[in-house]
Amino acid sequence: APTFSEFGSRLCQGSGIGELMDDLGNALASGGDQICMLGGGQPAHIDAIDAIWQQRVQSLCDEPGVLARVLGNYEPPAGGTRFRTAIADLMRREFGWEIGPENVAVTSGGQTAFFLLFNALAGRMPDGTQRKVLLPLVPEYIGYADQSVGGDMFRAVKPKIEMIGSHEFKYRVDFDNLVVTPDIAAICVSRPTNPSGNVLTDEEIHRLAELAQRHDIPLIIDNAYGAPFPGAIYTPAHPVWNENIILTLSLSKLGLPGTRTGIVIAKESIARAVSSMTSIVGLANNNVGQAIIRPLVENGEILRLSREVIRPFYEDRSRKAIRWAHESFDDALPYRLHRSEGAFFLWLWMEDLPITSRELYQRLKARDVLVVPGNYFFYGLDDIDWPHRDQCLRLTYTMPDEIVQRGLAIIGEEMSHAYRGE
Ligand code: PLP
Repeated sequence: APTFSEFGSRLCQGSGIGELMDDLGNALASGGDQICMLGGGQPAHIDAIDAIWQQRVQSLCDEPGVLARVLGNYEPPAGGTRFRTAIADLMRREFGWEIGPENVAVTSGGQTAFFLLFNALAGRMPDGTQRKVLLPLVPEYIGYADQSVGGDMFRAVKPKIEMIGSHEFKYRVDFDNLVVTPDIAAICVSRPTNPSGNVLTDEEIHRLAELAQRHDIPLIIDNAYGAPFPGAIYTPAHPVWNENIILTLSLSKLGLPGTRTGIVIAKESIARAVSSMTSIVGLANNNVGQAIIRPLVENGEILRLSREVIRPFYEDRSRKAIRWAHESFDDALPYRLHRSEGAFFLWLWMEDLPITSRELYQRLKARDVLVVPGNYFFYGLDDIDWPHRDQCLRLTYTMPDEIVQRGLAIIGEEMSHAYRGE
């Protein structure tokens, strides 16, 4: 193998989650119909939505000269001006935010936006100090964990756990233990949260925004699942933005992950910084997603689709998955599901489970049920002995009903075996 740089040693040699994703992919490739794939972050194929993409691509082909322009031109690194204007106008109309195209930067997917933003704001500073991104609540999105190109990047805070009834719970930000030290460069949350399906309340978000403002650091809000699109959010929660907030959106969870389109909304200097990084790393972005979606952003159709098609679809999936879980799991066991407020996942907590979630994952895999063990989502914590880390599983409910139902039944059986010490 070549001798890698610090950057190379961090990014070229795989990662825990990379291995797990391979594992999931390989099992899927070899297992055919038997496999219950409850492991990925893949959006569902919603017929009515897939039909719209088909129509839109068809009209790109039918309008004279349009396809040649979309496929044949580099666009500016910030993204197409008309697309950025359409996004800014939509946000102004919907939420009253004072923004224009200069506040919008397109990236090659939300994932890339985070890679660029984290490394631009945190890591090794010119004065030799190391700065970090503060995660006010873990479990948090696994996709951030390995993105640093230099040094440890995250400091995370354990949540408060609110018990609800006998089989439900909700994470809350533990503001008493949330301290912004001078080495913190930014605060970051996903809302709705992958993996837990949590949606931070408006009050929590306002307190985080205030805290960030007071310390003159940005609050980054990852809105990959949120409002106004794709709208996989089932609880009343208002999107917020101000000059100190960096909000990211994505076309992926709308059903266009193949176009790799992320959107950063931020003050002009940050949007310009993102555009500068895009030009250095990749010259320009893919413009196919922007071309497909732009008219729907301009005429507001994207809002209607999100409210009337996408949100009800996932909310229904979430309700059904919860019902099947409670039907399949032994009521006498101390399991709990996180309140499902958004995104695509059930988050299962098995208190005092005698084996680790990693072991349970292996047992489930042996029975062709693929999930993600929860330990991967608890990075950045000082307390590596917190038992909760090894007691959770993430289950995706975007697959067809019969697969989700069968998977949950097998999870119920394996959970019972594990609690019985078998
Ligand atoms: N943020 C969160 C919370 C996610 O769950 C994902 C994908 O699963 C992303 C960002 C990145 O998605 P993409 O790069 O496809 O926009």
